[in-house]
Amino acid sequence: MGVSRCFEVEGRVQGVGFRPYVNRLATECALGGYVLNHGSGVRIVVEGDLAALEAFETRLTQEIPPLASIDRLQVDMCQEEGFEGFEICQSHETSKSAIVLPDMGVCNNCLDEMHDPADRRSGYWLINCTDCGPRYSIMQTVPYDRPHTSMRVFEMCTDCRNEYADASNRRYHAQPIGCYQCGPKLSFSETGEVYEGEAALTHAIKALKSGKIVAVKGLGGFHLMCNATDEPSVRLLRERKRRPAKPFAVMFPDVQRIRQHAELCETEAALIESAEKPVVLVKSKTGSIAPSVAPGIERLGVFLPYTPLQHRLFETIAFPLVATSANLSDEPIIRSEEELAFKLADVADGVLTHNREIVNACDDSVMQVVGTQSLMLRLARGFAPCTLRSPFKTAKKVLAVGGHQKSTVALAFEDKIVVSPHIGDLGSLEAFEYFERTLETFKRFYDFEPDLIVCDKHPGYETTKWAKAQGIEVLEVQHHYAHLLAVLAEHQIEEKVLGFAFDGTGYGDDGTIWGGEVLLADATSYERVVSLKPFRLIGGEKTVREPRRVALGLLFEHYSLDEVLALDIPTVKAFSISEIQRLHGAWQKDLNAPVTSSMGRLFDAVASLCGVAQEVTYEGESGLLLESFAGTSDAKPYGFSIEDQTIDLSPMLREIVVLRGEAGDVASRFMATVAEVMVAIARQYGMKAVFSGGVFQNRTLLVQVMKRFAEEGIGYYLPSRFPVNDGAVSLGQVWYAMQKERHLRD
Ligand code: ZN
Ligand code: ZN
Ligand code: FE
Repeated sequence: MGVSRCFEVEGRVQGVGFRPYVNRLATECALGGYVLNHGSGVRIVVEGDLAALEAFETRLTQEIPPLASIDRLQVDMCQEEGFEGFEICQSHETSKSAIVLPDMGVCNNCLDEMHDPADRRSGYWLINCTDCGPRYSIMQTVPYDRPHTSMRVFEMCTDCRNEYADASNRRYHAQPIGCYQCGPKLSFSETGEVYEGEAALTHAIKALKSGKIVAVKGLGGFHLMCNATDEPSVRLLRERKRRPAKPFAVMFPDVQRIRQHAELCETEAALIESAEKPVVLVKSKTGSIAPSVAPGIERLGVFLPYTPLQHRLFETIAFPLVATSANLSDEPIIRSEEELAFKLADVADGVLTHNREIVNACDDSVMQVVGTQSLMLRLARGFAPCTLRSPFKTAKKVLAVGGHQKSTVALAFEDKIVVSPHIGDLGSLEAFEYFERTLETFKRFYDFEPDLIVCDKHPGYETTKWAKAQGIEVLEVQHHYAHLLAVLAEHQIEEKVLGFAFDGTGYGDDGTIWGGEVLLADATSYERVVSLKPFRLIGGEKTVREPRRVALGLLFEHYSLDEVLALDIPTVKAFSISEIQRLHGAWQKDLNAPVTSSMGRLFDAVASLCGVAQEVTYEGESGLLLESFAGTSDAKPYGFSIEDQTIDLSPMLREIVVLRGEAGDVASRFMATVAEVMVAIARQYGMKAVFSGGVFQNRTLLVQVMKRFAEEGIGYYLPSRFPVNDGAVSLGQVWYAMQKERHLRD
């Protein structure tokens, strides 16, 4: 007499070899029944004797395939049917709510085959299996089957077809399966010549070795590559790409080679070697990396090869390669050969590519480690689309469109929240098209039409305008509250917290520019309890590229024009006397000099005051420079006061101006001051804190803050899987809408 059980499994269980795994396990346990994929997960029906069934149930969650993960497992009794054996059944399609998986780096089994001269895929630059390879970037729609991917145009050869159909094979239902005979073809073009197959690889390697810039197709887009130890090549890339200083990521053949150029802790090394292979920002050592890779800063973005093609390059290349997204300045990553030829013809000397189309572009993910905690800076390849489970269901279909910079979108339906990969800054037409294309992709994947759109309060954001033009219900969420909500969503926090939203800029409830806010918040409401004393940004938008203007605005708050002109400090020296007089006039008359409480802008001001940065070319540059100058030792905080819900740093400003210390001392003492301000506020409230906003990307600051909070015994939450910057604004927005709707229902 047997027993019978039905398991409903949800999570990352489709397209990851889960059914063959269940098949093998059930067969080993001598159970009858079947396994099938359906719209929201996998159903398993097993029957046999009780001991075998219990063994199956225990092992089911413990031995899952590398890319699989289980979010929910429901077990029910069911009717015994007397199955002969175990089998994998054909898919039933019900609803489109299964998880769309991110692209994954090539696995070790595939690499072993690629390096095995006897294997039929020896050296194959697109080798993949169920445990690795592309997913999101090649998908047109769901379910994830070959006809729904850009592999549909490649007819499988007999060998591949046999592997694809064999449940005991590692490539069972591996949708991008292919080989030399039937798969995509490699080509390299340079000055009108086109080389194919191995010759393509040989010529591309030759070009890289001779100092040329080569565009190389990756998973979600092209990289521009060149020798990272060759200063003239790197400088040439900067000139051609018109990117003066923003750091380039560097790809190394292995982690040992990274250690020669950077200091790695255990957590960083593990992250670099993880299956997702993100770019990890680490502390660089002085060595042979060209100075132009990351000018003036001590951090280096490093990563390992993750496509078989990248591994093939490093078989004969011994030097690290700059591997930066192929795009024009801040536009989205380029995914097609045509666009590459149109936009970057005079940037890349050659193009190494293959004819498997990239359907959805996806950048590299960027992370960093603080203490032992890994923090997401750019959520993309390997991690996104990212699915989060909510403990409650939403009755509405919610779309959140994020902010304006580092844009992402998020959807919520039933108990699922899906966050898109990084789209980027929406300042260009191309970027906005990419935003709209991403929306269309996600609507198609999840059969999704929103009932409600959530956007930022900023009336000028393109996303806000887009949201309001859709003709359906719109909900606006204040930018910094959205930052905090993202952390509440990630950690599923229901309690009230003291949220520190220290950020660049965001539209405040009073119409001024916020960014140094302390909010008492929960998932449905907030109160602004403390904020940075406001100052003027002379020239408005212009100040983003000119820390010296921010500093000048701050100085005018405390000194007369004559006093400012008499100061012997770097900020004043960065202007002519007449410029200062003119800017003082603008400041006095309030001509394009909006008021802000932004902590990010305060970092700019300090960077100028201590002479580290007067003009910058990319967002976050002054913060990175301050970090590089700041010592790690315990610096003495400057004076400050917190009165009438305002953080007043005038004593600090006066000390910086009067003492005129070394840039490193000023930077360290400034960050110590910010940490002390936070501790002082947190002590008054006696509740758990949340840290969010772009300012917390500053590693030196965050280390200091975490240390001080630990010393004071004040608990805090930090985002980890989602970015601390604007990349998580969409998640915060979607969470607010879900919670609001839930509270209205209850
Ligand atoms: Zn593999
Ligand atoms: Zn084949
Ligand atoms: Fe922000």
